Amino acid sequence: MKTQEKKFRPSAGKGNRTCRRCGTHRGIIRRADLMICRRCFREIGESLGFKKTGARGG
Ligand SMILES: [Zn+2]
Repeated sequence: MKTQEKKFRPSAGKGNRTCRRCGTHRGIIRRADLMICRRCFREIGESLGFKKTGARGG
């Protein structure tokens, strides 16, 4: 029995990271495997217990 190998691959792969919250692919943060963008991170990041990085008096 021979198995045919298809070149087609699922969209999931390395290098293809997108915010799992809004879906954008800009400014993705992989902190704690959150896989979210900076915008969402600022919104839900605080709820999760993450403090703001640097930014004084933000
Ligand atoms: Zn987002």
